[in-house]
Amino acid sequence: MPRYKFACTGCAVQVIVSRSLSDSNDIGCEECGEPMKKALTVPHINAQTRPEHTHVGEVTEQFIEDSRVALEKQKEDVKEINYEPS
Ligand SMILES: [Zn+2]
Repeated sequence: MPRYKFACTGCAVQVIVSRSLSDSNDIGCEECGEPMKKALTVPHINAQTRPEHTHVGEVTEQFIEDSRVALEKQKEDVKEINYEPS
């Protein structure tokens, strides 16, 4: 069963939940009772990130930054490819 990361819209706590596609995505936070939203899968959010100090906006900014870095790296990788038109 696929696992998804959910982030609380209230206290920003994050949990990993196994859901099948047919399951509802409506999850309540166990900490504060606010609804939780499926978070983007961001492998760079590491275990050292303490949820109580992480706000959803910061996570989003980090994701954007990580995406930008990944894109730049992909561009560099493409440059390395010697394209020789025949
Ligand atoms: Zn919460």
